[in-house]
Amino acid sequence: MISVFWHRRDLRIDDNHGLAKIAEKYTNVLPIFIFDTTILEELEADDKRVSFIYLSLKKLKKKYQALGSDLFVLKGKPLDVLKQLNKNHSIQAIYTNRDYEPYAISRDREVAQWASEYEIDFQTFKDHVMFEKDEINVDGRPYKVYTPYSKKWKAELGIIPEYNLNAEALNFELKQSLPSLESVGFREVLGVAPKVQLDDATLYNYAENRNLPAKAATSNLGVYLRFGNTSIRKMVKLAKAKSEVFLNELIWREFFMTIMWFYPESATHELKTQYRGIPWENNEDYFDAWRQGKTGFPIVDAGMRQLNETGMMHNRVRMITASFLVKDLCIDWRWGEAYFAKKLMDFELSSNVGNWQWAAGTGTDAAPYFRVFNPTSQQEKFDPKFEYIKKWVPEFNTASYPSSIVNHKEAREKILALYKTHLNT
Ligand code: FAD
Repeated sequence: MISVFWHRRDLRIDDNHGLAKIAEKYTNVLPIFIFDTTILEELEADDKRVSFIYLSLKKLKKKYQALGSDLFVLKGKPLDVLKQLNKNHSIQAIYTNRDYEPYAISRDREVAQWASEYEIDFQTFKDHVMFEKDEINVDGRPYKVYTPYSKKWKAELGIIPEYNLNAEALNFELKQSLPSLESVGFREVLGVAPKVQLDDATLYNYAENRNLPAKAATSNLGVYLRFGNTSIRKMVKLAKAKSEVFLNELIWREFFMTIMWFYPESATHELKTQYRGIPWENNEDYFDAWRQGKTGFPIVDAGMRQLNETGMMHNRVRMITASFLVKDLCIDWRWGEAYFAKKLMDFELSSNVGNWQWAAGTGTDAAPYFRVFNPTSQQEKFDPKFEYIKKWVPEFNTASYPSSIVNHKEAREKILALYKTHLNT
């Protein structure tokens, strides 16, 4: 008989809540990871995120091996995989950490149902966030505005726990060699692990420099938090000690997760219902120019090219490119959200949707729709020496650089009129 710890968004051993808990109660704990074909089917063979996961699994496996145990890497529909594992080894318990996305919730519900039929002890734990679901609320209702949410979040924080593994509870008998990435249906892409920056210089100067895309002034934690290589509890402790502004960003992440938990329909529909049904122009040529970084607006083009090449884009530039797509090109925010979802290393449904709706003025933002970023003044303010632009758009200022596809001033007036008419009808 074995007990199973199922890794998902928590590709680490240290400070892992569910893992520590199963090892407190059971022995013979087999750690597993399942390449979920339901998710993989949607992705292209050279998806950078899959390579990142694979690299992380290699490291995790080595860590388990150093403890005398092993990580089993499996592939299939999770319920089928667990059923097969149960046939082969007889499972008494499955523990895992909670995932709050709509698909994950329904997947776990099915697993819980099956486990209860077979009298398998299935338990889930809070590990990915400091506060989950409705833990931060106002009289039982969710906050829809960030500032009061973050104040309550800070007030409720208290002592941050740490969860240590009793390694003696691991399984030491079963061994598996890591399946190749090709056998999972993917090609390995190199250079997919961004350099994490949590040194004092970065954190103490974060507030001042974080908006300057030419400087390497942010943490690059996105993808590590997404897949749980890093414990959020440890990051919050660090942020509390070194940078309030950095802490505020970590709270944005949880704020958007709370919104997605309460309003899963916001993944595809405007959170503010009065904005539903805006008649977007959705010009496909403009959309192509935006995707390729050929709009003739250098800060927009630099951002899109950085995204296409690396799977990363600086936050300030994400805001500018998103505003440009929606407000200057009059393209549905869902198109942009889907493109970012396909390309971003740190893609997180709640943060991506939340930020896109923020840019479109349809989500949680307290400000009304009429904030339209001016790409030229944004460039003057945040990349005054064109350093970021020159890095990603080498032909900038030469004859081969495209001319602007729209006139910003006219586009601004047009979109404001469109929103206004829509809201008044
Ligand atoms: P840092 O500045 O070092 O911040 C530390 C961490 O705080 C980030 O890793 C992230 O977990 C969190 N964080 C920071 N800013 C935000 C924010 N605005 N919203 C939510 N969390 C935040 N972030 C994602 O993690 N996944 C996404 O899919 C995503 N899509 C976005 C789409 C748009 C249109 C915009 C404007 C922003 C998006 N962001 C997303 C937020 C932000 O751009 C990234 O989290 C950040 O750029 C990642 O780089 P970093 O780790 O160096 O961030």
